[in-house]
Amino acid sequence: MIKFENVSKKYPDGTVAVDSLTFEIQQGEFVVLIGPSGCGKTTTLKMINRLIPLTDGTIFLDGKKISEYDIHELRWNIGYVLQQIALFPHMTIEENIAIVPELKKWGRDKIKQRISELMEMVGLDYETYATRKPSELSGGQQQRVGVIRALAADPGIILMDEPFSALDPISREKLQDELLSLKKSLRKTTVFVTHDMQEALKLADRICIMKDGKIVQIGTPHQLITSPANDFVKEFVGGNSEKSVIDIKLEDLLQPVKGNEVEKTSSAKVSVSTPMQEIMENLSQHEQLAIEKDGDLIGYIDRKTVMKHLSTILEKGG
Ligand code: ADP
Repeated sequence: MIKFENVSKKYPDGTVAVDSLTFEIQQGEFVVLIGPSGCGKTTTLKMINRLIPLTDGTIFLDGKKISEYDIHELRWNIGYVLQQIALFPHMTIEENIAIVPELKKWGRDKIKQRISELMEMVGLDYETYATRKPSELSGGQQQRVGVIRALAADPGIILMDEPFSALDPISREKLQDELLSLKKSLRKTTVFVTHDMQEALKLADRICIMKDGKIVQIGTPHQLITSPANDFVKEFVGGNSEKSVIDIKLEDLLQPVKGNEVEKTSSAKVSVSTPMQEIMENLSQHEQLAIEKDGDLIGYIDRKTVMKHLSTILEKGG
């Protein structure tokens, strides 16, 4: 768990980048920090791993002040992914990923096993890519390596600073999809900075909207869309979004059951007659809902489809 208590950052030139932030991020939660350029997102992120010292207040990790951690222990337990692909160019992909596990003195076999497992998880064949240099990979592949390098030594926390913003839209969407599935399987506490609302809506358990170093609103994507705290949030989330939500129809979102597919046990179930507002609320808790009619499964709705549909509506100015 990460806890901010009245945390402020004033740079030596007098700029107050972060102004008395108080909030908590739960174990396994994926929180996105978003807001206009200069609102203090990166400063907030970098204070967590002490890349930037805070001026006032306290940050706790699992109940202990970050200032009380040994700096190496702190950094090794926090994966960090940057916008610029920060792989070491003279090292192979495997060597790049192995850095922190080696610092933590893991055995060779364990490191190799972990690296091949992670590479496979993001679609990089170990035999093909492990011995390549970063320059022999595409931008998207390099950023995948950046992500799994941050995960390599199984850190408790992952910090991501606009990790996909330098990528082309197609690679970006692919990496977001992969991150979503990593998120489901690994359940890491993650703080993710972006200026892209669609990315935030797609990935976040909760979104923290910042302005002038302060939190304007923090809530689930659903809460921000349906109950924006003010016009700033409303505009940021996509203008007139209340109407968009009301305009969503079940049939636009329903994915039919294919062939003789059996009901997925992990799905929560709702009836086809459930009000849309309630379905959305349910989707804020579950990735996927099974839709039933008279007790029979007629299809599924998943969060990704809803977000995609929503973004289409917003794009059209709905
Ligand atoms: P964001 O990530 O939201 O774009 P930052 O956290 O990078 O915002 O910056 C917040 C504010 O602090 C901005 O006004 C920025 O100009 C200022 N700032 C950032 N780094 C420094 C620094 N090293 N010295 C002085 N001001 C800084």
